[in-house]
Parts: sequence; C-alpha cells; structure tokens
Amino acid sequence: MKTFFLKVITIFLVSMLGFLACTKHKVKDKKIYIIFRFDDPSAYTSDVIESKILHIFKDHNLSLTFAVIPYRCAGDPIDVKPQKVVPLTQKKANLLQPFVQKGTLEIALHGYSHQTRSNEKWTEFAGMPYAEQLDKLTKGKKLLETLFTQRITSFVPPYNAYDINTTKALKSLQFLTISANEEGIKPKNFGLKFISNTVTLDKVQQAIDDAMSEEEKRSFIVVMFHEYNFMNIKMPGVDKPEMSFEGLDELLTNLQHQKNIHILSLKQASKIYPNP
Ligand SMILES: [Zn+2]
Repeated sequence: MKTFFLKVITIFLVSMLGFLACTKHKVKDKKIYIIFRFDDPSAYTSDVIESKILHIFKDHNLSLTFAVIPYRCAGDPIDVKPQKVVPLTQKKANLLQPFVQKGTLEIALHGYSHQTRSNEKWTEFAGMPYAEQLDKLTKGKKLLETLFTQRITSFVPPYNAYDINTTKALKSLQFLTISANEEGIKPKNFGLKFISNTVTLDKVQQAIDDAMSEEEKRSFIVVMFHEYNFMNIKMPGVDKPEMSFEGLDELLTNLQHQKNIHILSLKQASKIYPNP
C-alpha cells in the first residue's frame, strides 16, 4: 500500500513539474506574427503552382509575399560561368497582378538573377562592388515596379547572403525591409528592418512553441517555402519538406483558429516590426 501511495505522489509531482515547465515563460497577451514568404518565382517557375497558392491565401483572406527573381539566370543558379538572363514575363505579371490589386500578394525583390558568384559560399551580392550592386538592384526593382502597380520595399537576398554595400544600396533605393536568416549583419540607423527568424514549412508549430516561451510581447516568424515543396521530386542536400495544397489550406485554417496568431505580408509586418 505504501509503495502505491509513493507511486501516486511521484506521478503527481512529475506532472506538476511538467505543467510548471510548460507555463513558466508564457507571456500574457503574446502576439505572434507569421509571414509566409514564397521564394523564387521567375520567368521559369510554374504558373499552376503559384496560382493555386494565391487562391488558397485569397480564400482565407490572408496576405503573403512572393520573393520574385526579376532577371533569372538562364542556366543553373549555382554555376558561376557567365549566363544570359531571362526577364520576368508580362504573362507572369498578368497572372500575379490581380492578387496584388486585391491585397493578397506583396511582391518583394529576390536578387537580380539569383546566380551565385562563388562556389565556396553561395552568394549573388555579398562581395560585389557597391556600384554593381546598386545597378543590379536598381534594374530589378524597376522591372518589378513596371510590371506591378506596387512600390517594392522588401528585399530577400538570394542564399541569405548580403553585405554592408547591399544595405547601403537598398537604403538609397528606399527599401524598408530585408528578410534573410539570422546570420546577416544588422547595421543600425539605416532605416531598414531586418526580419530574420526564418523557418521551413514543417517547422511552423515548433517556431510558434518557441516564440510562446520568449519574453517579448510580440514575435515574428518568416515561413519560407518554394515551388519544390509542392513537387514530388528528390533534391539532394536540400531541406525539402513536402506540402500538398490541401495541407497548406489546413495549416492556414489551423493558424487562423489561434487567436494570438496573425498572418501578414512582409510589408505589413515591417510597419509594426521594431527598429534595429
Ligand atoms: Zn531564392
């Protein structure tokens, strides 16, 4: 009998400890902002996949951001040899434009051609002279602003790689936001917001759980995804969680049921994101 009571008390204490561990850091009125960022749309990518994703977000009355490559390199982006570039087509712009007008879609600039200049560490911009960076960013921004009736204020550096010259060029072109991972520099007094907590589609719930235990009243999570997440293909060396359109729809429904979660575009998030 004694052993039985001992067991009951032990189970009770262990459960209480677990409960306390879970609730210890919960911040009252915590708000979590989630930004869905679909990377790499270009002259080469699938209209069908992009259209389906946009319809899902529109049906949920939510906004997302497409990080668009304005002048996609014609060959493999990780081949450093000189390549031709293929500008985003009017056809693609015509597909996306109605969603821009409805407020479903924000267009962000995702590099110029997305071609790496180094084999050792993939980067399109880091290490490039300032004048060249400014020229490429100017051309890319101009093409997207000509094709879409929207001012482009968010920049997503290919391979998460950028340097101080990139931030200077972005500042001079009146960009407001950089979305990359945590590794990048975040210089102050540039008037740029660095929204950098990036996760993949399969890590959304984990990121929310982590955010819940942070002390800040507000947390921001960028969910980066690509068209290959919706394609049944093998990609060696790429962290590639698979997602179906139904799965994306369910994920959004689930997130919308959680009162403290708000889904925004980069531009919307930037307005409330704290200054560096
Ligand atoms: Zn990319």
